[in-house]
Amino acid sequence: MSRATENQPFMCAHCGERVDRLRNGSFRNHCADCLWSLHVDDRPGDRASTCGGLMAPVRLVQPRGKGLAIVHVCTVCGHESRNRLAVDDPSQPDSWEAVVHVQD
Ligand SMILES: [Zn+2]
Ligand SMILES: [Zn+2]
Repeated sequence: MSRATENQPFMCAHCGERVDRLRNGSFRNHCADCLWSLHVDDRPGDRASTCGGLMAPVRLVQPRGKGLAIVHVCTVCGHESRNRLAVDDPSQPDSWEAVVHVQD
């Protein structure tokens, strides 16, 4: 699959929100509204997994020198991955309200 098709808009499998691609060209794998993701990657963007399970947002991390990231755990197989948050995206920022709830 080409790089272009990896970053297309998608429908959230958890809440049904339409999630647009990021304007800054970086990769977003999760819903901007509820932050849930789908287990389609082994590493971000590779589409190598055949699991397809819903991935729950479980906690936030801030790697040294980088922006806030969200950790997802697959509800089917337990696979864990992280993805940069996009709370400052000009067209469809990640929901701060949902981000705050992850910390609960
Ligand atoms: Zn959603
Ligand atoms: Zn999985």
